[in-house]
Parts: sequence; C-alpha cells; structure tokens
Amino acid sequence: MCILIVEDERRLSNIIKRGLTEAGFAVDQAFDGEEGSYLAEEEDYDLIILDLMLPKVDGITVCKNLRKNGVKTPIIILTAKSSIEDKLQGLDSGADDYLTKPFSFLELKSRIHALIRRSSKEATPALTIEDLTLDPIKHSVVRNGESVNLTPKEFSILELLMRHRDEVITRSMIIEHVWDYNYDGMSNVVDVFLTTLRRKIDSKANKKLIQTIHGVGYKI
Ligand code: CA
Repeated sequence: MCILIVEDERRLSNIIKRGLTEAGFAVDQAFDGEEGSYLAEEEDYDLIILDLMLPKVDGITVCKNLRKNGVKTPIIILTAKSSIEDKLQGLDSGADDYLTKPFSFLELKSRIHALIRRSSKEATPALTIEDLTLDPIKHSVVRNGESVNLTPKEFSILELLMRHRDEVITRSMIIEHVWDYNYDGMSNVVDVFLTTLRRKIDSKANKKLIQTIHGVGYKI
C-alpha cells in the first residue's frame, strides 16, 4: 500500500510519513501542488493526503484536476481551514474525506483504513492462485487451508506478485511498490524479503509457487 502526502509543512509531512511507515505503508512526499499533481498522475497510489494551502497550485485545484483527468485514487483533504464552506468546497472538488488541523494521528489512520477498505471493496476481490488465497480487505493469506502470518511488507510483495500472475516482477518494481519513491537502499533487501516470504508460503507445500527469474526478479 502506497500513500502520497502533498503538504508544504515539512515537519508535519515528516511526522505523518513516520507514523504511516510504522503502520506498514510506503509513503511518498510532495511539497507543493505542482509536484503533488505530477506524482499523483504518474504513480499508482492507494491514497492521497492533500493539504489545501499549497505553493504553486492550491489543493482544491489539484483535486479538481486529478478527478478531471480520471485519477480515482481516494483523497483525504487535510487542512487548517475549518469552516463548513471550506469543507463543502473540498468535498465538491472530488475529495473523499476531510480532516481539520490539528488532528489526531489515530483518527487520520482510521480514516485512511476506512477509505482504502471502501475503495478496495469496489475494485479488488480476493486473489487466488491454486491453493493460495490473499484477501486485500481482510488482510489475510491462506495456503492449503492454513492461515499464513505475513508482515506488511511481505504482504505487499505477495499481493504485487499475485496481481501480476505469470509476469516477471523486477526487483526495482518491488522496491517502487513496497518501499517508496526515494528509497535508495540495496536491491538485495528484496531478496531477503523474498526468502522469508517463500519460507512462509512455499516451504510446506508440494508445489512451489514463487519462482526466481535469475538476474531479473520474481514471478508467481
Ligand atoms: Ca499548507
């Protein structure tokens, strides 16, 4: 799950990023409306947190343009503006929810989960390949009738592989999806995660589902 924060107050943006990262999300940051629009259109986010008073392009305009251009990603507006008119204007522009600063991080997190659940209910039923089932809404994985416990990152990697069944997924695709845009760690971190994922998914099963494509990446 990857979230974009469009917020010009760097300190606040970093606090939200830290909290969401600890909750298992990958997080990208944009610090003005122009950069935010660009990333929101180019990358595939599960949710966008959008401030209203932003340099270059304001949040209402960003939101309207994204919707006009067919971007359906759920958007939560986060702003110091708190009048009813401001809220209505925000929701009219195509946002899904609205949170007024100062806010509690727990509330932000629960609204994020609610929005993602709502949008994934519409778009994503459970994924099944042979006797492996991953349910993005319940956040559960079952192999051969037995439930498998995965960390948030392992879960994201498995979901990515299963959504692209029979396609080779490169290490950099995995890093982009599961970590974030600016991640510059070693790509062998992916191999480490795949080793534990494989142990949990495949070690007890007769048929191994996760295949290594040497020098390139992985596929299911
Ligand atoms: Ca601002």
